[in-house]
Amino acid sequence: MTAKLWTYLPSDEGALRIDRAFYERLASNTERRELVESFIIPIRSGRAWPVRAGQLCRVVIVEGAQVADFNAWHLHNPRERFWAARTKQLEASHVTTGNRLWSVLPYLRPMLTITNDTIDYGVDEDGGRCHDLLGTRCDPYVNKLLTGEEFDFSCHSNLTRAVLPWGLAEQDVHDVLNIFQVTGLTADSDRYFMKPSPARKGDFFEFFAEIDLLCAISTCPGGDLSIPLWGPDAADPISVCRPLGVEVYQPPAELLDGWQSPQPSDYRGMHGMAVP
Ligand SMILES: [Zn+2]
Repeated sequence: MTAKLWTYLPSDEGALRIDRAFYERLASNTERRELVESFIIPIRSGRAWPVRAGQLCRVVIVEGAQVADFNAWHLHNPRERFWAARTKQLEASHVTTGNRLWSVLPYLRPMLTITNDTIDYGVDEDGGRCHDLLGTRCDPYVNKLLTGEEFDFSCHSNLTRAVLPWGLAEQDVHDVLNIFQVTGLTADSDRYFMKPSPARKGDFFEFFAEIDLLCAISTCPGGDLSIPLWGPDAADPISVCRPLGVEVYQPPAELLDGWQSPQPSDYRGMHGMAVP
């Protein structure tokens, strides 16, 4: 076995560095921000909403633990959307304060930066961590595969219904960030596992929009994931499904001094092809 171990690291330190003081100021000056919008997403449903560049958004545990399946697009160009796989490489497989979510090619820029995560789960005895990028959304196709049954309120379906009014469709739904979800890979068999969400009433996950965003969330029909959806112990987890709150805030202009919305990648090559 080779000992070689390396990760995605920039040749120029600045490329992935964030101005932590800037984001800490945004996160801590809560009394100076103005509430733009707030709403509740009921159980087993989805909703999409805009967050403008320079605004903050919180996903809030309003009753009790509940997992949120999150998608994000550029508000004005939905081809630019969140890229879970590259975010895992540039950031981590579970994200928290200070991590960013990156967009797909050919854009590859930070779409949002996480400013405040009250969960602070760390790593547990099984290697489980919170706010998951290893997995993806539940969907009716895998449900049919595993159970033979049809179910219309999987996260994929909830997100599909949520984005239709914004001119998007099922094909625009993409791999998610599972907010408030604890996951890991088993040490012996390298299999994906999930655990009950540790979130409690009042917990929140807050981010700063680096570009104009369309965000969407599904309140997972698995609820807090304390009851298996599949397998021999499966049961209907509707008793552990809870609504989630969303709050959008505008911080005062002076807190945004010096910040600039990031530009898409400036790679202008032709992938090795000559101009025809
Ligand atoms: Zn789900």
